[in-house]
Amino acid sequence: MPRVIPLMMLLAAGSFAMSIEQPTAAQSGPAPAAQELPPLPTMQSIEAPAGWKPDGHVVPHMPETLLRLPRTRITHAKYPAIDFHLHASGLTDAAAYERLIKLMNTAGLGAIVNLNGGTGANLDAVLKAGAPYKDRVANFITLSLDGINEPGWSGRFAAEMERAFKAGALGMKVHKTLGLDAKNPDGTYIQADDPRLDAVWDMAAKYDRPVMIHLSDSIGRFYPISQKNERFEAGLWHAPSDTRGNYYKNGSPSPEVIEKARENMHKKHPKTHFVNAHMAMLYYDIEKLTRFLDTYPNADVEISATVQDLGRAPRLWREFILKYQDRVLMGSDGSQNREVDDFWTPHWRFLETFDEYFEHPAQVRTEGGSPGHGRWNISGIGLPDDVLRKVYYENALRYLPELRASIQKQLTVRPQ
Ligand SMILES: [Zn+2]
Repeated sequence: MPRVIPLMMLLAAGSFAMSIEQPTAAQSGPAPAAQELPPLPTMQSIEAPAGWKPDGHVVPHMPETLLRLPRTRITHAKYPAIDFHLHASGLTDAAAYERLIKLMNTAGLGAIVNLNGGTGANLDAVLKAGAPYKDRVANFITLSLDGINEPGWSGRFAAEMERAFKAGALGMKVHKTLGLDAKNPDGTYIQADDPRLDAVWDMAAKYDRPVMIHLSDSIGRFYPISQKNERFEAGLWHAPSDTRGNYYKNGSPSPEVIEKARENMHKKHPKTHFVNAHMAMLYYDIEKLTRFLDTYPNADVEISATVQDLGRAPRLWREFILKYQDRVLMGSDGSQNREVDDFWTPHWRFLETFDEYFEHPAQVRTEGGSPGHGRWNISGIGLPDDVLRKVYYENALRYLPELRASIQKQLTVRPQ
């Protein structure tokens, strides 16, 4: 028997309470039926028929919607949002910063966190060129696991972090290679609770700098490659030999192993603040995400690359974000190559409006132009202004107080 949890029990047990109105007995007679969270499909149910292989066929464009649906006019974010998840590589001269600032102004971004600061000489160049722009761009050092199997690595990397923080890096980014790729000499995978990382997490706490951490991956990438897999097109698994970014039976740890190690890390380092990228990759299971946030006060989450999923269940996630309004940060996972209309505007539409059935900010597009991270449309969650301000900038400013004056200034000059 699959395990089925009565939803109301789950919500009553946690601090997460649904306020979506259900008809009461007085209004409609019999009591409303109880809700349940059914289990995920089994791996077997997603498995392709025997002998099937991707044939390299280009996926056609998603059909255009032939419905007249109300659309809120949005030209940029309502408030100066801080995009906590941006990959702005190549910020080593003023021209690169100027291009980025121009893009930010068009999108309505108050500030961004650049996760591609790197380490060493690269980071130094980024920080040096960025000095005149530090009211808009927060550069993070990027964790490098190179040499982790060599003696003394922990101390060396912690010292590099200390140097970076003193030089102006405002946090650290951790890539999903931790957990899914980096290995010990014996071939086992290095996880987030590896004792060699203790000194790293502790150094972030010592300087009170956030750790922006991406662990695990989209749940679809752990399932078999098949046309039934909802990430089939995002995976771009076109050729029979192309299994990039798919972990099914490839020897990688399961999401549960990575999630458990992440819990151990949060528990062992209560003074370190972790911003878990992509809703901790738990967008697929609100029960897990609720328990995670309820258990670890040092965990926050950031929404990038999950809008296509949250926007499929807008009422559910609206309630969630209202409940955890102090723990959710805005992020996009974009870069300077993204178009504002195609990429940031759908984020604003999702967060600010109740517009229905619109194109999500596709992280990947297929060659045919279909949104790879989901062949579907989404609806908005229309956050109230006070919550919107928290998600857009207040929660991020807790970690980046250096940006407060800049955001405050932008608020006063913006038309409200
Ligand atoms: Zn990213």
